[in-house]
Amino acid sequence: MSCNHHPDDSTLLCYGAGSLPDALAMVVACHLAVCDQCYDKVVEAEQIGLGLMEQEPVESISQSSRDWMLAMLDESVDDAGSEVGKTSDVNSDIPEPLCPLIGHSFSDLHWRTMAPGMKQFILPASRGKLRLLKIAPGTFMPSHGHSGSELTLVLKGSYSDELGRFSVGDVADVDPDMTHQPVADTHEGCICLIATDGPLRFKGLVPRLLQPFFQL
Ligand SMILES: [Zn+2]
Repeated sequence: MSCNHHPDDSTLLCYGAGSLPDALAMVVACHLAVCDQCYDKVVEAEQIGLGLMEQEPVESISQSSRDWMLAMLDESVDDAGSEVGKTSDVNSDIPEPLCPLIGHSFSDLHWRTMAPGMKQFILPASRGKLRLLKIAPGTFMPSHGHSGSELTLVLKGSYSDELGRFSVGDVADVDPDMTHQPVADTHEGCICLIATDGPLRFKGLVPRLLQPFFQL
């Protein structure tokens, strides 16, 4: 798949090092399943990490710590490798890493209405928030800023915002200081996988009042 928007290199590096919160890591894993370019970067980052460890003075790191880190890096490469190029056999909209969490169909999920034209489905994550968002054609999301990182992967349809147009496979890696207002494109609805590691910052009163109820 040819993608136009990718996670930042720093995000890929953190993913390769295993230091991304699991909510954000799931979005990256799903993107790697369709983007060879980013997969290659992650493998390269992991190889650099291994190279740095090779140069580490023996006395500065215990053998048990060294063995553990090498095992973690190997596991990370294997995990990413097993996901590359794979989407669910049953529904090609759903990347393989996501299938254990939601199964093979968006329509079987218990979507919860947030506002006219917007529904969400919360996914489990131990660090950060992870959700699917379904947006009806032409629907404007409330304008919002961020208090942390936000990664959005388009799984179906497309949307546009101040950063451009995002289609299936594209990732928006939004800086904490950026404010944006996504709008689903008009020809079909949009389903996105969104991870955050801090609360959103809404400008409008109504979204701020609703925020606690929808874990935004
Ligand atoms: Zn990519």
